[in-house]
Amino acid sequence: MHLKKEYKLNTLDERCVNNSVSCLRRIPNTAYISKLTSEPTGVYCVGLTVDEVLKLSIEELYGMAMEPREVPVRMKSKRALRDMVDFACDMFDIEHTVSNSVVYLYDKLKEASSYSSIGSTEERYIKAPRKCILELIENNIATNSSNHDENNVIALELLDAGKTDTEISFVFSSIYDEPAGDYGWYNDDPSIPGKQIVNMRAKGLHRYNKKRLRDMGICNNDGCPCEWS
Ligand SMILES: [Zn+2]
Repeated sequence: MHLKKEYKLNTLDERCVNNSVSCLRRIPNTAYISKLTSEPTGVYCVGLTVDEVLKLSIEELYGMAMEPREVPVRMKSKRALRDMVDFACDMFDIEHTVSNSVVYLYDKLKEASSYSSIGSTEERYIKAPRKCILELIENNIATNSSNHDENNVIALELLDAGKTDTEISFVFSSIYDEPAGDYGWYNDDPSIPGKQIVNMRAKGLHRYNKKRLRDMGICNNDGCPCEWS
């Protein structure tokens, strides 16, 4: 009614709207009741398939409504489901091929979406890596050693610095300087990033704050620029 007044519509069927939602939603195979006589009109609300609506004339469709009929089985489109899953994977930067099952990709999507909002990878603001982290990287490369916590700190710092997955993996291959194994920080083929990095990006995780770096003993320099960055 508001729309009708606002836009001076003369095509809106007020009788239908005033008769509430009963005209808009109906239970299959219930009889139509005449507004004038309150008697059944002999016409039923019947379910129709898309095929019937497209192929049959209005007279034929009306004829089918003269008696209740079996409700057509709804066929879910596998193709549409697949397209939707592929679309969602693209949004979350999840790699997918036709050989990945929908169930597998759905799990990946759940994993990614529980950690980040939609499009989090696009929202990643680029932040220059902090001095104490750069020192940590240099130190770990020099000593060929790093622990899991330090790896997380380094990877997230570089993700937020706008580095690509393969660039970050290269840093880890430089630190460890040994065959990749299956730790996931890098691969023996430098063109394939480590799965830990790929997962962190998919989860939309961000770099550690300065308090955590202090608690971990990674930033222990009072004059460190990360204090005011
Ligand atoms: Zn610092």
